[in-house]
Amino acid sequence: MSAPPSDSQPASRAVPSSVDVVVVGAGFSGMYLLHKLREMNLSAVAFEAGTDVGGTWYWNRYPGARVDVESLAYSYSFSEDLEQEYEWQERYPTQPEILRYARHVADRFDLRRDIFFRTRVNAAAYDEQGRTWRVRTEHGDAVTARFLVMATGCLSASKLPEIPGLDRFAGATYHTAHWPHEGVDFTGLRVGIIGTGSSGVQSIPVIAEQAAQLTVFQRTPAYSLPARNRRLRPDEIAAMKANYRTFRQAQKESGFGVPTPIPTKSALEVSDEERDATFERAWESGSLVNLLTAYADLSIDQAANDTAKRFIHRKIHQIVEDPRTAADLCPEYPVGTKRPCLDTGYYETYNRENVHLVNLRRTPIVEITERGIRTSDQAYEFDVIVYATGFDAMTGALTSVDIRGRGGAPLDEAWSAGPRTYLGISSAGYPNLFMITGPGSPSVLSNMVVSIEQHVDWVTDAIAYLDHQGLTTIEPTQEAEDAWVDHVNLIADATLYPKANSWYMGANVPGKPQVFMPYAGGVGEYRKTCDEIAAQGYKGFALSV
Ligand SMILES: Cc1cc2nc3c(=O)[nH]c(=O)nc-3n(C[C@H](O)[C@H](O)[C@H](O)COP(=O)(O)OP(=O)(O)OC[C@H]3O[C@@H](n4cnc5c(N)ncnc54)[C@H](O)[C@@H]3O)c2cc1C
Repeated sequence: MSAPPSDSQPASRAVPSSVDVVVVGAGFSGMYLLHKLREMNLSAVAFEAGTDVGGTWYWNRYPGARVDVESLAYSYSFSEDLEQEYEWQERYPTQPEILRYARHVADRFDLRRDIFFRTRVNAAAYDEQGRTWRVRTEHGDAVTARFLVMATGCLSASKLPEIPGLDRFAGATYHTAHWPHEGVDFTGLRVGIIGTGSSGVQSIPVIAEQAAQLTVFQRTPAYSLPARNRRLRPDEIAAMKANYRTFRQAQKESGFGVPTPIPTKSALEVSDEERDATFERAWESGSLVNLLTAYADLSIDQAANDTAKRFIHRKIHQIVEDPRTAADLCPEYPVGTKRPCLDTGYYETYNRENVHLVNLRRTPIVEITERGIRTSDQAYEFDVIVYATGFDAMTGALTSVDIRGRGGAPLDEAWSAGPRTYLGISSAGYPNLFMITGPGSPSVLSNMVVSIEQHVDWVTDAIAYLDHQGLTTIEPTQEAEDAWVDHVNLIADATLYPKANSWYMGANVPGKPQVFMPYAGGVGEYRKTCDEIAAQGYKGFALSV
């Protein structure tokens, strides 16, 4: 497997022995957090495994990598000057453009001076007497902090497939989440790619244009809409900049962190013609949210959802010329219950002569061999294998750190039956430990920059409250956590989400408990709840002096 740039060398500066706050991760979450903590005159350091800021957009450099929320919405709102001065180029920017934005933010707010790059945090233990966290890095440094904030990302612990012989292949292998910074030239090569989630759907059309042959190994097909990406027009940028405050407020109150009209009609109460016309408009708009919110009952009623499913199946059959390939590309689970994708020419790619789809439900992979991939009916030879196999989502980056709370209790054991949090922000038994967009919060079901800013604001407000009140610790009560976990499950069970074997459910990681992890009640509702809890003196939390 080709490695990302070296992340094993120690940083040259000395790590301070003690700070107010340790931040783990320097993606969008860690960066904003550091900025906020500085504004509060708190001392803070961030540790980041990569060599620069950007998180997701630093690591995922695979060809075709793009955001699927529009740039003018997938951006920080905390600084009006930043909003006004930054010039986004595209409707759905590519990874390099988003990374450029992250770097711009780091420069503009001088963030790097408190970030230790190439530094993975291995362990953190709570000292009950000192009421501090002792955080250890891979280089053997240790720092003591009053607060520990895990800004480690929901999609940052990458996942290889569990296939025998992974190390046997003699050619080059790449994981989409650890793409070499210098890029990969596929010209003239025979390429096999495993995985058809977002990273696969985005990279397959681009790799197909270069490779001599591209064989796609698909276990579960994705629902994908054409992104209809384009350059932004000066007039729409100007209009957004003139209206940003209203737009940001609407984002905060919306269901997905993207303002859309709230649907009132059922998909089942309108005529077939009206419904098709609505879905067609969503398809043409290049917006996932327009599809997911086309009718009020798409996410909760199977029959309603089936109407969207049939519409997309029809589209796939219209685009893909070979009927058997088209049928293999049609998902059976309800639309939206696995992360849907936005693509540029994805289904069209299967009309190319050099692209071949292997349906692993019919012919599963048996092993990786020295020369390629062997399925139950055929051996395929490749020069390169690409793993677009995603992440140990939402919990992977948290449980891979040896986090010990009260009584030395390991977090991964406390979560052995699935993650347990209060608000997706903190966990009983782990005082003064916060998670940004943790399991039990809207996180991956939202425009994540909106959810990140909300959590950073809430966490820093909580720290300010403690300091102002002369308090030292905050920790959810067991009762509040149990009630929140029940609430999250109740909402999930009222939707179709649990019907798919998705990474939302942990289904892509063998042995991981199958629990629907994000909060599905919507960004606006969730924010209200968090604000009310804070306004009631942090109801459900035990605060102590
Ligand atoms: C391919 C891809 C496409 C996406 N597209 C969208 C989209 O269209 N819209 C959307 O809203 N969201 C999208 N996301 C989700 C995206 O992760 C968030 O939008 C956002 O970038 C998360 O920021 P973050 O800072 O919370 O986490 P990350 O960006 O994941 O950053 C976390 C950082 O923590 C570091 N880290 C983790 N563990 C440790 C440790 N133990 N020690 C030191 N450092 C550590 C990692 O190296 C990483 O840099 C996408 C994610 C992926 C992977």
